[in-house]
Amino acid sequence: MDIIETNLLIIGAGPGGYVCGIRAGQLGIDAIVVEANKPGGTCLNVGCIPSKALIHVADEFSRIKKSATSNSLGITCTDPSIDLRQAIKWKDGIVSRLNGGVATLLKRAGTKLIIGHAMFVDGKTVIVTDRDGEVEIRAKHVVIATGSDPVELPAIPFSDKVISSAAALALDQVPSRLAVVGGGYIGLEIGTAFAKLGAKVSIIEASKRILPQYDAELTRPIADHLKALNVDILTGHLATSMVADELIATGHDGVEREVSADKVLVAIGRKPRSDTANIPTLALSMNGQYILIDDECRTSMSDVFAIGDVTGEPMLAHRAMAQGEMVAEIIAGKRRSWDKRCIPAICFTEPEIVTCGLSVKQAEQQGIEVETGQFPLAANGRAMTMESEDGFIRVIAQAQTGIILGIEAVGECLSELSAAFSIAIEMGARADDLGDIIFAHPTQSEALHEASLQFLGHSLHS
Ligand code: FAD
Ligand code: NAD
Repeated sequence: MDIIETNLLIIGAGPGGYVCGIRAGQLGIDAIVVEANKPGGTCLNVGCIPSKALIHVADEFSRIKKSATSNSLGITCTDPSIDLRQAIKWKDGIVSRLNGGVATLLKRAGTKLIIGHAMFVDGKTVIVTDRDGEVEIRAKHVVIATGSDPVELPAIPFSDKVISSAAALALDQVPSRLAVVGGGYIGLEIGTAFAKLGAKVSIIEASKRILPQYDAELTRPIADHLKALNVDILTGHLATSMVADELIATGHDGVEREVSADKVLVAIGRKPRSDTANIPTLALSMNGQYILIDDECRTSMSDVFAIGDVTGEPMLAHRAMAQGEMVAEIIAGKRRSWDKRCIPAICFTEPEIVTCGLSVKQAEQQGIEVETGQFPLAANGRAMTMESEDGFIRVIAQAQTGIILGIEAVGECLSELSAAFSIAIEMGARADDLGDIIFAHPTQSEALHEASLQFLGHSLHS
């Protein structure tokens, strides 16, 4: 067996691993990334990118379909239809371009990418099995970036009919009846897209509300929109079994309800891949199923780091990327530690939810006295011209100082505003700083200005 020695070995080329590989290469570190499947990981191949591509297809189709019925804009068109096979082909084309892009970026940085499956022999030695056989890699530093897998329901295992998000994003026909178990990020993003594409969608959610991590005011516009799309929402229910075409959902009251379905999408969360690659034999300290890390992403074993979904919530691509970049810099000898004030999160539903920093509840739990300023999109000219008046932007700031600790929003096309939210919080802006800044007119961003003015007690347009 060939033996390769390297300074840094990264297991997994998802957003965490490949970004770590690129930055390591830029810093002159001799690094190898091992990936069992395609570069880009869950996010690029079966997650963020494919789901946003499907959402775009569904949005376009639904807009055109609206023009075929009554609308106020004077647009007419007749009988639009959707060829999902073609749409999936288009999505696969984007994924494949990005796969190539990741491989090229690693190569350009001087980092080697090996497509193969890695198994630990000990904390610094890994055997990689690829098409040509086995190779042993010995490294001074190791980064575990193995990601996560969808959680399966033991009573309703994955099959041709009961599918995970990865399979849902590869369907070549719109199912007539789609049951979605889990009214969280994945269930709502993909469920909404299929409802727009013409499926009869039912959502079964265990909690009292969909998206239970957000407050009711933020999720109300989404629930209203799902209702308008004729989506049935069964909250307070657990999916308990499948009998032929009927999914059985049991309510907290013990009553069983039948939900007819051609396909059942199970989206009840993701579990870390901490049981792969012989990781358990390393006996690392764990945080439940997640690998325990400190604020430099170090594990309990020296010079073994872990990043991304395998280390816990929030399981988001941009968190994994930021950790990957930081770890490469630490290995290069730079002084870095995880000192982020916020990790933005976006739920790409209709309308979109964007949150960044602390919610009112989280601030209160930390004993911080906060006040809010909120501005409705119904009073924003740009939102009116986009026919998207449902929603608002809310600024959460420390009562005494006005320092902005959190920004929350719900509204159409607000995801791009997440950058402004993050910049304000990371740079320690106060409500009067935002109040003093000129926001371009007419844009939905003016609602952020107005929410800050509202906090200060002198909103101009409400
Ligand atoms: P992963 O992306 O899971 O990559 C891990 C890689 O490690 C995989 O490629 C795997 O093949 C490889 N690997 C595992 N074990 C081995 C081994 N033994 N040897 C070699 N290779 C191995 N996040 C967002 O921020 N925004 C979104 O819009 C968003 N949408 C999503 C939509 C869906 C449907 C899903 C499922 C997820 C979404 N996410 C989103 C979450 C995002 O995909 C993850 O947070 C992100 O991919 C985590 O990156 P990672 O590098 O930790 O792991
Ligand atoms: P999630 O945690 O967002 O939602 C799961 C939902 O399923 C919860 O509301 C939970 O109450 C419900 N649930 C759990 N068990 C159930 C059961 N037996 N029956 C009915 N309902 C049940 O998980 P997800 O939607 O699978 O997404 C996984 C992770 O992927 C997210 O937490 C997020 O980190 C990431 N993700 C992010 C994005 C984004 O950033 N836009 C998009 C998709 C996924």
